[in-house]
Amino acid sequence: MTVCKEKGNELHGIYESVDWDWDDWSQHFRRRIQTLDELKKYIDVTPDEESAIQKSAGIYKWAVTPYYASLMDKEDPNCPIRRQAIPSLEEFTTYNYSDVDPVGDTKYRVGNRIVHKYADRIIMLITEQCPVYCRHCTRKFHTTNLNGTYFESSESESYEPDFLYIENHQEIRDVLLTGGDPLTYSDTKLEKILKRLRSIPHVEIIRFGSRYPVLLPQRITKEFCEMLEKYHPIWLNTHFNHPKEITKDSAKAINLLLTHGVPVQNQSVLLKGINDDLEIMKKLLHNLLKIRVRPYYLYHCDNVTGVSHFMTTIDTGLDIMKGLVGHTTGFATPSYVITTINGKIPLPLNTVVEYSEDGLILKNYQDKETSLPYLTPKDS
Ligand SMILES: *Cc1c(COP(=O)(O)O)cnc(C)c1O
Ligand code: SF4
Repeated sequence: MTVCKEKGNELHGIYESVDWDWDDWSQHFRRRIQTLDELKKYIDVTPDEESAIQKSAGIYKWAVTPYYASLMDKEDPNCPIRRQAIPSLEEFTTYNYSDVDPVGDTKYRVGNRIVHKYADRIIMLITEQCPVYCRHCTRKFHTTNLNGTYFESSESESYEPDFLYIENHQEIRDVLLTGGDPLTYSDTKLEKILKRLRSIPHVEIIRFGSRYPVLLPQRITKEFCEMLEKYHPIWLNTHFNHPKEITKDSAKAINLLLTHGVPVQNQSVLLKGINDDLEIMKKLLHNLLKIRVRPYYLYHCDNVTGVSHFMTTIDTGLDIMKGLVGHTTGFATPSYVITTINGKIPLPLNTVVEYSEDGLILKNYQDKETSLPYLTPKDS
């Protein structure tokens, strides 16, 4: 017998009638859209999208969860969900300075899965699988490019050498599990990793980088959160880019994580034509606060081969930040950063107008100036 459910994104009035359990994440994963015919059930595919999908064959992976596809605008090819998930012909234009790995993950890798770029923290790339292959992925070479992988041997290779590396480096206090998307692994597999990490006394915090709350929120089950709870402190950073991605299902996933003591923060990427607009960005940030997600980073888009067309200028990013800082809740405002071969570099607003002999002149968010004289003893 099949269960028939009327589900989808009620916020946008898109309903998909399915004869399988919409709340079962493994079903979404198994039923990911990977063919044109399948995609056509959700949207009116444009000729450009169609040729980009054909051109991608053998070059770039693409897959979309039925959930994420249900958020797509059927008619509008500029829909932010479509732009993030459906291949475009622009991916095949190469630009100057673009590189498959401009941030230097390979330069800093110290083992099969570990990238050690900052002294006190590492990332562990545990899988190259994702529920949706985001067209703008910074690790496009690693996740989406069919020729590319950072895994020296295989993804299923023993973790023990990686754990030993952490064990032998007392300075590592923060381990970030990422990929690909680590939540693609089963709870059992993830628990093994967490348990082993927790046997290393100097590992203080463990964090996940996962886009599942956005791309397949059904993955965040009560059982999963109860498992995480045993290994606290666990943090999770996710990746919402557009207000349309904040739905009842994603809010429910976030609520489960928070209820089980996992703080959730957001890392957006500034993407041309998707969120490079003050009003859209503000709405995204405000809606994140409504579901109790703390905006953490706004990444300047990296010049990754196949991704460059999503880049804005840094001035665009700074203008958006100028429209946010002081104009809205302090903790609605992420840090705007650019990832480089030398690490993440903040791109702050310049608030110092002048360094004079007597002190500094600062300006506030309305460009109102304040002078701050240097401290001098009053009577001497
Ligand atoms: C982003 C990143 C981290 C974590 O950086 P935070 O600024 O602490 O969030 C760690 N290692 C690598 C290689 C990274 O790219
Ligand atoms: S989920 Fe994350 S790692 Fe996977 S394709 Fe999207 S941005 Fe890249």
